[in-house]
Amino acid sequence: MNTLLAQRVLSARHQGAGLLDCVYVTVSCKRCNRFHDDAEGRPVKSADYRDLDSLVERARVMAQQTFAEPAGVCRQCGWKTHVVAVDYHAWHTTAMRDLVVRATRRPFVGLSIELLWWNETRGYTAAGTFTEAQRHQVRRDACIRRIVAAVERAGIRAALGAIEDAAQTLRGDPDLLQYAPQLLAIGQAELVAQIATAHAGLHADQPDGHFWLAMALFDQVNRGQVPATQLSLAETHLRIAVGLKPDFSDASRALCSIARARGDVEGACRAFERALAASPADVLLMADFGSLLLGCDPAAALAQFERAVSLQPDNVDLLFGQADALIRLGRVTEADVLLDDVRNSHGRHPRLVEVERALVRARRHATEVTEPRAHVRARA
Ligand SMILES: [Zn+2]
Repeated sequence: MNTLLAQRVLSARHQGAGLLDCVYVTVSCKRCNRFHDDAEGRPVKSADYRDLDSLVERARVMAQQTFAEPAGVCRQCGWKTHVVAVDYHAWHTTAMRDLVVRATRRPFVGLSIELLWWNETRGYTAAGTFTEAQRHQVRRDACIRRIVAAVERAGIRAALGAIEDAAQTLRGDPDLLQYAPQLLAIGQAELVAQIATAHAGLHADQPDGHFWLAMALFDQVNRGQVPATQLSLAETHLRIAVGLKPDFSDASRALCSIARARGDVEGACRAFERALAASPADVLLMADFGSLLLGCDPAAALAQFERAVSLQPDNVDLLFGQADALIRLGRVTEADVLLDDVRNSHGRHPRLVEVERALVRARRHATEVTEPRAHVRARA
């Protein structure tokens, strides 16, 4: 194996679907009667083919250009060389090897094309005639790689067209769901809902489609794009997701948030208790539950924050939650000590001002309550 292809093997391991197509040229020197690999592979920036036929066509065009160009000189003797083969390597994520379109040119015959597989261990092997299933795999691969390349080059917005295409042609494909968080972040909830619905329909035993469908609905309700009544549909899908995977804590947390968003504090508390029973070490759940309880039951809130702090002692958000609960319970001295610790370990954190103000108010309130008694004592 030449060193160029060895480099390609390394890149494939790191980049996966993002690996660029590459053209490798073999030249021959008549004088020393040897074949040489081209000095370097030529990476192909955009892989815009959609199926096997357009891949072959693209390789044919590139080969014609290469055959038309001067081939350079022999590295051994300096004599003029000529091109004998142009190999277009396209990484195939499913087959985990390169699909190669090899173009050769013989006098009087013209350009001939053959399909090969290539990998590190077996080298080049004939690919034979492609079945319909293999052709589908190439279409799928091209679709996914267009998305990966666009995301890597210019971010998720640049990939929107390719993802919309894939949502149609690769309905229910699990690889599409991985873009759901990024798509939601740029307001593409409708597209996420479309992808997730197809996934949930095709993979009834998997929770992810249901989860992302619920997330998309939740997002659309928050943006006022669909009526709030859709929240109950989101809840249904989250329940299905949690039913399929009881320790799916993102889904459990979302169920809690939806109950909260509806103003159903009791329902939210029940949801948190169920979620914590399934994921007893989930610190995020404890923190969310704690902050919900602050308004109605600060003692229970304190218990949640204390448990969370015991698992993540350096998490400053949890410490603030704990201080907030102590202040609401009127335990100002303990809150004071805790905030001192926070100042020592985390400096002037942005949230300090707000909590310190609450502490001052609580202390004033405590003096107002104790002062009249002192007054009475002084008079007596
Ligand atoms: Zn030579």
